[in-house]
Amino acid sequence: MIIKEIIDIIEHWAPPAYQESYDNSGLLTGNPQMSIERALISLDCTEEVIDEAIRENCQLIIAHHPIVFSGLKKLTGRNYVERTIIKAIKNDIAIYAIHTNLDNVSSGVNHMMAEKLGLKNGRVLSPKKNILKKLVTYIPIDHYEKVRMDIFEAGAGHIGNYSHCSFSVHGSGSFKGNEHSNPSVGKVDELMHVEEQRFETIYPDYLEAKVISSLKKNHPYEEVAYDIYAIENEHALVGSGLIGELENEMELSDFLNQVKSQFHLKALKYTPLSRKVKRVALCGGSGSFLRFQAAASGADVYLSSDFKYHEWFDAEGHLSYVDIGHYESEQFTKELIFNYLRKKALSLQSQISKVNTNPVNYL
Ligand SMILES: [Zn+2]
Repeated sequence: MIIKEIIDIIEHWAPPAYQESYDNSGLLTGNPQMSIERALISLDCTEEVIDEAIRENCQLIIAHHPIVFSGLKKLTGRNYVERTIIKAIKNDIAIYAIHTNLDNVSSGVNHMMAEKLGLKNGRVLSPKKNILKKLVTYIPIDHYEKVRMDIFEAGAGHIGNYSHCSFSVHGSGSFKGNEHSNPSVGKVDELMHVEEQRFETIYPDYLEAKVISSLKKNHPYEEVAYDIYAIENEHALVGSGLIGELENEMELSDFLNQVKSQFHLKALKYTPLSRKVKRVALCGGSGSFLRFQAAASGADVYLSSDFKYHEWFDAEGHLSYVDIGHYESEQFTKELIFNYLRKKALSLQSQISKVNTNPVNYL
């Protein structure tokens, strides 16, 4: 496969448009047209991981954290970021990062953590707003089915777990073409009234070009009338964090011991709670920014990492904050990406990195 084909498969799952504004997901080194046989999947891309890729004959590294994050101005090998990039380029190894876009899709990093904890009914804790648009258009009856089905095919019409969502109402459209027109119905300079369906549906903003081009391709009119509305609705399946419920409520101490065993932890940090635990909010990686939403959603526990000292006070006994470590919280992301590629990119061989890239040790 060429890298571009693999990227298309990955980005169908975690569109780059869903990454946070500070992020740098995407192809960091390598040519999208390069043909590859084997990919190595890691959480971080370090020099050791590049060495592993060379050893294992992997031409592409798919990493969760982008090794180039805030830009490079020089490339002289003075730090591990520059040395990693130099080594990758010298050895023709492509690096692709799938970071906050994978955090923000409902089948991503947090979903994997919830699965490990056995949470039921998982939903996005803080859904994203302003990423949906509404399309309204007017389609002559005999073209209605074809036009609308192709708009769905282009990615419109999804609400939560439902596809093909739309509304339509019957009406009459009118037009009169001037001498430069070439009307598909009626004649030049003739006032026409045509039976049409007003059709409306929604789509994620990043698919706009695809949706509008599908409309124009299939609609019979020379000039297609359509309106695009920005809508403020949340996207239920895209956003930060996750909230779900344990099958059975349990004491906080039992829950914490379960977390320690499932995430293979030597230690964790937490704030106490005087009630049992049933509803669990979580966020892989640095998630303290979601701690108030976790409390507002009625969670008994908020499990994440990288809480700062003063942030711990905000728990105030309303819920228990649990910090399991950044690497530890995202350790199953490699498995998540591997499982996805195994299902979707059949002719690609991939393997999970054996390098422990966690820079933090416990004593
Ligand atoms: Zn992370």
